[in-house]
Amino acid sequence: MLDTRGTLCGLADAGIVLEEGLRLTIWSDSDENEDLEADVVVYYHDKKNSWVGEVIDDFRHVPALNEKSLPLVCVACRFNFEELIVRHGLNGSTDCPECGVPAWRPILPPAR
Ligand SMILES: [Zn+2]
Repeated sequence: MLDTRGTLCGLADAGIVLEEGLRLTIWSDSDENEDLEADVVVYYHDKKNSWVGEVIDDFRHVPALNEKSLPLVCVACRFNFEELIVRHGLNGSTDCPECGVPAWRPILPPAR
């Protein structure tokens, strides 16, 4: 499932908006020293109301990066939402005050 805050922040930072058939590399923490990484094709799962990644190959074990969690930025203009989130919280209708693009744009459901 690609609906976590960490996924949102990572996609926004990379300037990626999820779309059907998009191929990307995901990773998850397995333990302190090792992460799991996999290439996936993403698609929108209607029943789960969430983007999911279908793993193409097997998961790979890679050294843990221990990255600090990324701040949430606007996927369009890189406005940093963190201060706004501290003051107002993050909800489904949080838009970028600079360009009006929704904070959730990278993982919004596809338009159909
Ligand atoms: Zn913006």
